[in-house]
Amino acid sequence: MDFACPKCKGELVLAGNTKKCKNNHSFDRAKAGYYNLLLGVGGGTHGDNAEMVEARRAFLSRGFYEPLAKRLSELVLLHTPERGCVLDAGCGEGYYTDKLESALCERDGETNVLAFDISRDAVKYAARLNKRVSYAVATSYDMPVADGAIDTLVNAFSPLAIPEVGRVLHTGGHFIIVYPGREHLFGLKSVIYKTPYKNEPEDTAIEGFRLLTHETLSYRIDLKSNEDVRSLFMMTPYAYRTPREDRERVLSLPEVSTEVEFIIDVYEKI
Ligand SMILES: [Zn+2]
Repeated sequence: MDFACPKCKGELVLAGNTKKCKNNHSFDRAKAGYYNLLLGVGGGTHGDNAEMVEARRAFLSRGFYEPLAKRLSELVLLHTPERGCVLDAGCGEGYYTDKLESALCERDGETNVLAFDISRDAVKYAARLNKRVSYAVATSYDMPVADGAIDTLVNAFSPLAIPEVGRVLHTGGHFIIVYPGREHLFGLKSVIYKTPYKNEPEDTAIEGFRLLTHETLSYRIDLKSNEDVRSLFMMTPYAYRTPREDRERVLSLPEVSTEVEFIIDVYEKI
């Protein structure tokens, strides 16, 4: 199982460095090893920019979110049949994708992992990190995937359209979504804002899906260098929402201690 043509959702066949469908829509392989399956002019210029991607890559490489990557990988293993097909929709620079693919590879070596993001800067990095994953630049609002082709769809901190999730998963397939909990990054918000707010709880009911498990993973992280503080701040939406004066102040902090709280929900398509 591989990506489908973004125009007609037909099967893509590899010919040299190009993938083509039977309607002759063709897509070239980028040097880094991914395919640009985003339609329209300026494809791949949306989403997180190089600076945000680099900040997130630096932060994640320090292992602060490793407990989340580990738990997410366990859940993907648990819910994906052997030789199945997993899609990571909105994979960013591929940190979680790499971890979960490695776990699957260790298990059966034949489970297919597809991943895409709308940011070309992010996908470029991801494709170099793990060559076994099929990477594409694409959008979660119109996934280049055939109907019912996916066993497990993973989504970590990335916007997406539920009808598309329902379309690409087959009945009985699993949808695993990670999003910030109430306390997430409260310590960081406390140094940015005079009156920091907590995240609102999300409604877990999704039409056409049954919620199997709802779990919270929370712990404290201590950033003991200005470099780590900068990386964390620059990978959050606060980086561009914060007024310049406050931004400069946060970027000069020598250390920050903060809660992190992740919610992981697992759904079955009914
Ligand atoms: Zn086509």
